[in-house]
Amino acid sequence: MVPHRIGFVGLGIMGKAMAANLIKAGYNVFVYNRTREKTREFENSGCTAVAMPKDLAGIADIVITMVTDEKAMDEALEGPTGLFAGNFGRRHSLRHLGPQCGCSEGQTLINMSTLPVSYTKNLAEKCLKSRIYFLDCPVTGSKPLAESGQLIILAGGDENLVERMKPVLLTMGKAIVYAGPAPNGTGLKLCMNLLVAQMTSGLCESAVLAKILEINPALIFEVLKESPALNCGYFKLKQDNVLNERFSPAFSLKNMLKDVRYMLKEAETGKQSLPVLETLEKLMAKSYNTGEGGQDLTVILKTLKDYYKN
Ligand code: NAP
Repeated sequence: MVPHRIGFVGLGIMGKAMAANLIKAGYNVFVYNRTREKTREFENSGCTAVAMPKDLAGIADIVITMVTDEKAMDEALEGPTGLFAGNFGRRHSLRHLGPQCGCSEGQTLINMSTLPVSYTKNLAEKCLKSRIYFLDCPVTGSKPLAESGQLIILAGGDENLVERMKPVLLTMGKAIVYAGPAPNGTGLKLCMNLLVAQMTSGLCESAVLAKILEINPALIFEVLKESPALNCGYFKLKQDNVLNERFSPAFSLKNMLKDVRYMLKEAETGKQSLPVLETLEKLMAKSYNTGEGGQDLTVILKTLKDYYKN
């Protein structure tokens, strides 16, 4: 068990917790983060931080990326400091590490960030050409589930490769849903986040309506708790944000806005209108433009309440 040497790129809200779980499980983890400060905690606990993603190519047989978007992915993979500049995937590069590294079958890139479908499709094609095994594995579940290793992994790619990577994936998550070849993991992820975006706006608008009707919004959560059909973990997760207007980020508004724009782009490409999502994009953009991008996505509650002030 645990032969893999894993390179982890991106120690943000999610990546930090996911990399920590890999270390806890005994994997030999090498970390990279653009802002070096975030690697200190890992270095202090004995983990090696590399100066650039390229450095991972010679030492890791699996590289996991958990960064914001396509620009961040390009920074991680392309250019003179990117992973690909280190000839990642050329099977012979890790021979010096011996049988311990588990790399006899070649190097694997697992992307777990939420990216555009078209970007993931191109990346899968590029990896195929470069003899890199590739999995398209975005996740659902936010910070608390990343910390407890209970994420749900939406896997796109070769099914046998998913099977081989199962022990690594299930260190970060509790379930893997196989979606078909890449970019289907990303496609499924966008469908799931459409629900999350609209559930958030539903909850926030319901709380705003309660306020103007002089109903205590806490009663909404009491009803949700009692209702077998509406009692949903997500609403519970956001209860404190909504009732106490505390917006410390578990999933930032700016990252959800990015995903909503990916969804709308896909809908446009498929000549499909998503009118509710289009309206929500405008609300989220308004919130982002008033400087709330780094807050939890429930911060749209504040934007709704201030609607006629701005
Ligand atoms: P986050 O806290 O904002 O972290 C983003 C990470 O990407 C950081 O490590 C950041 O580095 C890096 N990054 C951003 N721009 C970069 C660039 N241009 N070049 C290099 N690195 C860059 O985001 P997160 O919440 O962990 O989310 C990560 C991914 O998972 C996103 O795609 C998000 O949509 C997805 N996701 C998030 C959640 C959630 O609930 N948070 C749930 C499921 C999926 P710095 O530290 O240097 O800024």
